[in-house]
Amino acid sequence: MIFRQLFDPQSSTYTYVLADGNTHDAILIDPVFEQVRRDSALIDELGLKLRATIDTHVHADHVTGAWLHKQRKGSTIVISAASGAEGADRYVGEGDRIEFGVRHLFVRSTPGHTGGCISLVLDDRSMAFTGDCLLIRGTGRTDFQQGDAHKMFHAVHEKIFALPDNCLLYPAHDYRGLTVTSVGEERRFNPRLGGELSEDDFNGYMRNLRLAHPKQIDIAVPANLLCGAAASETVREQATEPQWAPVNYTFAGIWEIQPQWLEENLDAVQLIDVREPDEFVGPLGRIPQARLISLGELADRTGELDAQRPIVTICRAGGRSAQATVILRQAGFGEVANLAGGMLRWRSEGRVVENAGV
Ligand code: FE
Repeated sequence: MIFRQLFDPQSSTYTYVLADGNTHDAILIDPVFEQVRRDSALIDELGLKLRATIDTHVHADHVTGAWLHKQRKGSTIVISAASGAEGADRYVGEGDRIEFGVRHLFVRSTPGHTGGCISLVLDDRSMAFTGDCLLIRGTGRTDFQQGDAHKMFHAVHEKIFALPDNCLLYPAHDYRGLTVTSVGEERRFNPRLGGELSEDDFNGYMRNLRLAHPKQIDIAVPANLLCGAAASETVREQATEPQWAPVNYTFAGIWEIQPQWLEENLDAVQLIDVREPDEFVGPLGRIPQARLISLGELADRTGELDAQRPIVTICRAGGRSAQATVILRQAGFGEVANLAGGMLRWRSEGRVVENAGV
């Protein structure tokens, strides 16, 4: 199985990628809207096919990426029937199976944080994804969205603590950077409902959490009740891909352009070759119309560039020029891309070069 844990620093949300290692069918648990591009890049780079996104509940602190992933990859939107959300492709409940390749997740109904919270248990019970029900040495809050501490206590004890002690637990959030726990350790050490703590103890604890209202709640909840469908202008803007060229976003965070497009559109862009001067006149040659501004000088020479024209950066193999795009974006240039593979790939594809050695 392929497994990745991804983090959204804005909302402290974990998103999980699970995929069958043979068929490459993949699912995403709790994708975040602002991270769709990143998650999508990883899915592509790992050669996965995104079959479904699953939200463990209607989140109040971030907008789900479910709808946007569906637009981009055709994935199925899955959420619990009890969530009250509209626009999903599949509504699940206790005991349902969500398949990816030959693997699957079991759905466990674990209400308490919201009325529609689910936890997802991997087929062999080696891992479970607990959403905002059980957190690492904590729990989700129970003071809004049909929150109910009694239900949560029972959900944790009957649905999560019933799993094997060594079953690893992955929550939807952690605010201290902790990444994983296990059933055994939470049963013993969870300070709210582990060890000998009773339902009344838990209730008392939860009534006195004194948490601030989530900042995003007024935006997130309405959007998530539509599974993250574009509701506002800002949302649409973020969902839009750059229009100037068919650029591709990598998991490393770099916008790339393919050699073929560049060769066909040399006149449409400023070509900046960021190699050293001796490389620029060296045997690899250069792309016609390329201007030399070595990487070390780029930050000081951005004033020489035309702010109105897109920029493509080039180097030997596409590494330094990737960093050049970062420098240019920091300097305020929006339409910037790295030539994928640099001069080496450009030459191996037999594209036009000038001043090349023999
Ligand atoms: Fe939540």
